[in-house]
Amino acid sequence: MTRIAILGAAGRMGRMLAQATLQTDGAELGAAIVRPGSSLIGADVGELIGAGKCGVAVTDSLDKVIDAIDVVIDFTTPALTEQAVALCKAHGKAIVIGTTGLDEAQEKTLGEQAKAVPVVYAANMSTGVNLSLNLLATAARALADAGYDIEVIEAHHRHKVDAPSGTALMMGRAVAEACGRDLRTQGVFSREGRCGPRTDDEIGFSVVRAGDIVGEHTVMFATEGERIEITHKASSRMTFANGAVRAALWVAQAQPGLYDMQDVLGLRD
Ligand code: NAD
Repeated sequence: MTRIAILGAAGRMGRMLAQATLQTDGAELGAAIVRPGSSLIGADVGELIGAGKCGVAVTDSLDKVIDAIDVVIDFTTPALTEQAVALCKAHGKAIVIGTTGLDEAQEKTLGEQAKAVPVVYAANMSTGVNLSLNLLATAARALADAGYDIEVIEAHHRHKVDAPSGTALMMGRAVAEACGRDLRTQGVFSREGRCGPRTDDEIGFSVVRAGDIVGEHTVMFATEGERIEITHKASSRMTFANGAVRAALWVAQAQPGLYDMQDVLGLRD
């Protein structure tokens, strides 16, 4: 049995992660952590998510419970992720990170810390999105040098705080790597006013924020006379939660290192 601690258990993803953990064979809900001062502290997690009493009380500190669990799942904020990874490293515990919006320095630190503990870090934990990354790389290899313009379009709910989404960036990176481009210099993240025609090699990003959209991503390869679109639409957050719990069971058995869902799902070339 793999004992899982869920950080940010009161969040949109946190509640789904608790539900997915309770429903998964081989996984045990070991702890659920919320913000200090939360009115939920002490409540039974199962009752909180409408799954019936499960005997695990909500707590406010990962520090207090870390020695009693095997893996942490973190879908919170970059600042809390940094603290959680440091704590996991100090206690030799594996961690699954779904939090998006980490900056370059934070990702670099994570790479260093992952030399000591197993870490799965993925901006999107869904099986479909991770398979799409392979399809995108195949399409980019065939089309980028044949004059097809590449654009990434994403849409999310009105509460999302970072843009473009971590998944859109992942897709952009998969395409860029496959056709030898660099997203830092060839990614175009806004167009406004008289910005001129697009260049051949740029990879453009467009962002929609509206209502309750769970997450939609399209990568368009367009040329004179035709257009290919690879689209993924998430209709429930449970797809991310189930992927994260699958990653937790996998990473609990892994050697120290920085992994992503391609490793967890066995999709790496
Ligand atoms: P949310 O705002 O609903 O949840 C974040 C939770 O973190 C909140 O409950 C907040 O109270 C909690 N939190 C913040 N600081 C804390 C602290 N010090 N101690 C304990 N809890 C603390 O957001 P969400 O929609 O659940 O998304 C969370 C993150 O997951 C975002 O970065 C989002 O982009 C990402 N996400 C990733 C995937 C994926 O597949 N990788 C899927 C969906 C969302």
